[in-house]
Amino acid sequence: MSFRTFPKVELHLHLEGAAPPKFIAGLAKEKHVDISGIFDERGNYAFRDFLQFLKVYEAATQVLQSPEDFRRLTLAVLEESASHGVVYSETFLSPDFCGGGDVGAWREYLHAIREAADQAERDFGITLRGIVTCIRHFGPDQAKRIALCAAETADDWLTGFGIAGDENAGQPADFAYSFDMAREAGLRLTAHAGEWGGPQSVREAWRDLRVERIGHGVRAIEDLALVEELAEAGVVFEVCPGSNLVLGVYPNLAAHPIEKLRERGIKLTVSTDDPPFFHSTMTREFENLARVFEWNEDDVRALNQTAIDAAFCDASTRDKILKKLETA
Ligand SMILES: [Zn+2]
Repeated sequence: MSFRTFPKVELHLHLEGAAPPKFIAGLAKEKHVDISGIFDERGNYAFRDFLQFLKVYEAATQVLQSPEDFRRLTLAVLEESASHGVVYSETFLSPDFCGGGDVGAWREYLHAIREAADQAERDFGITLRGIVTCIRHFGPDQAKRIALCAAETADDWLTGFGIAGDENAGQPADFAYSFDMAREAGLRLTAHAGEWGGPQSVREAWRDLRVERIGHGVRAIEDLALVEELAEAGVVFEVCPGSNLVLGVYPNLAAHPIEKLRERGIKLTVSTDDPPFFHSTMTREFENLARVFEWNEDDVRALNQTAIDAAFCDASTRDKILKKLETA
């Protein structure tokens, strides 16, 4: 079996973080912006550690300046995902980078992104849904503006709200107001936690933001009572092993807790997070899991089932995707 052609569901992907380096380099050239320093000699993003990763990420996103840039970005990202067998994807969208949190500007960016998603569905057979994401280190007040953007544009395409950014900035409870606003607008909820923060960070995100999914969540393994509670509650982890390894959360895949979490009953899915930054693809994630943990086709099918069950889409979209997954 080829992991590449096997149909897959991906729930944790940052749109700007998925920007192919060639696409960003091309856009920089068009705009006469010199960001050549962020690439290595082979044209990949170059960074040594987490802080430098954030700098490179920021420099790359600087050239994304208009709705048209985001339309082209979305199309490039979805073409790449579809080439790795992804049939359904959810992407984190940051109004902070799309008009600075202004609702009117955000609507224009969103319109462009959705236009590209429609085209990708026709051309590449991949379905996309959006999750508006506030940035934790921009603080609770800015998060409220982002939540308002999300609430004002919530519908059957923009289906979720979440939080990303520096996990050690502030407390989850500081963002409860924004999550309440999103929940009241009918949005489904997820939060990044348990990547840089330990189990307490996961517990607080789950308790104070009342999310049904946790982005990463892997460091919950350091508190087995918490793992048991989360398994019992059916909270779904969006696990991104390749991302955790490149950023040094774990030294190698054998040391990564994904298998232990699964054995303890955590519902989990596998995603790439910011694929070109982490030299990751959905194909490679599964090849690595097969090599290190001997996961096989049945394991991939089970992960797909968990992911589509936890997807923030409506029932008719879910049925359509399930039919595609059944072909594998
Ligand atoms: Zn992430």
